[in-house]
Amino acid sequence: MVILAGCVATPGIVPATALHGIDHVVPQPDKFRIPELLGMASGQTDRAAPVFFTTRALLPVQDGCAFRCAYCIVPTTRGAPRSRPMPQLLAEARHLVHQGFKEIVITGTNVGTYRDEHHTLIDLLMVLDDLPGIERIRISSIELSTVEKPLIEWMSRSDHACRYIHLPLQSGDNRMLARMRRRYTVEQYRAIAETALSAIPGLGLGTDLITGFPGEDEVAFQATCGLIDALPFSNLHVFPFSQRPGTVAGDLDNRVPQATIRDRTRHLIECGQTKRNTFAHQHVGQCLPVLIESVDTVPDTSEGWTDTYLPVKVHGKGLSRNQIVKTCIDQWDGNHLLGHP
Ligand code: SF4
Repeated sequence: MVILAGCVATPGIVPATALHGIDHVVPQPDKFRIPELLGMASGQTDRAAPVFFTTRALLPVQDGCAFRCAYCIVPTTRGAPRSRPMPQLLAEARHLVHQGFKEIVITGTNVGTYRDEHHTLIDLLMVLDDLPGIERIRISSIELSTVEKPLIEWMSRSDHACRYIHLPLQSGDNRMLARMRRRYTVEQYRAIAETALSAIPGLGLGTDLITGFPGEDEVAFQATCGLIDALPFSNLHVFPFSQRPGTVAGDLDNRVPQATIRDRTRHLIECGQTKRNTFAHQHVGQCLPVLIESVDTVPDTSEGWTDTYLPVKVHGKGLSRNQIVKTCIDQWDGNHLLGHP
């Protein structure tokens, strides 16, 4: 059975001729209902709960975005921002904790715009923080212009907040940021990232970058490289620009040649690996809690994650999935931290 789901399943995005061989088209708002929809198709009527195949449970707190960055089709496909009521989110989080999930990941299209009447994201986080049994709260990607001081303060003092923040940058050049219709300058980005890094010791800092956005000349690209060098990023997601019909960037001139885009992408991916190595090496010699996700790849080896969002192979007997194990880190092999309980 083939299911087309998510943003791309929005009417008008994929031409009907491309749907040949697809059994079900499930639009974005319904994607977590796929088990239920399949059950209905086969005559079952029971409501199915979302199923997670990791030890981290996702808690979608809102959907939609009205920022309209020049390259992004999401505001068209997902529509205006809508937040879920706080009591409903609390009930769902309580249920997930009751099911045994130790880590809850706050997700959404633009999580920093969460609003339920006068409550904002920080109010929600503080209430979740007090939930009995919760061990870790991780915030997925968050837009820089929505990061306020209370969020950083909460991350620095909460026993449950994961020490990782993903702040999409896209470009390290102010002219490009303006062309992309992003809502911050390089200086603002740097100031907030540095505030978070100094308030939260050991913080992992992730970002997204676009290479080859129309008009990105060598000066702009070098500005991006300079900012990447200057900040201790632990995780870079590098995306070559691709034109999306229906976006502002779809009609922009000054296109960057594909070969240049490829070279810039490769260069930033290599920078990202170097920076990740540097960040990971700082964990060697420390004993850190690791949330075990799987136990059966190699005998007596389990795999899990630090709160700083690095993968770990833990060598030791008798570990179980979904257990948080204090792990002494011996080395970084380029992909995983290696350690023992
Ligand atoms: S890139 Fe993010 S913030 Fe910008 S329009 Fe798309 S979803 Fe919204």
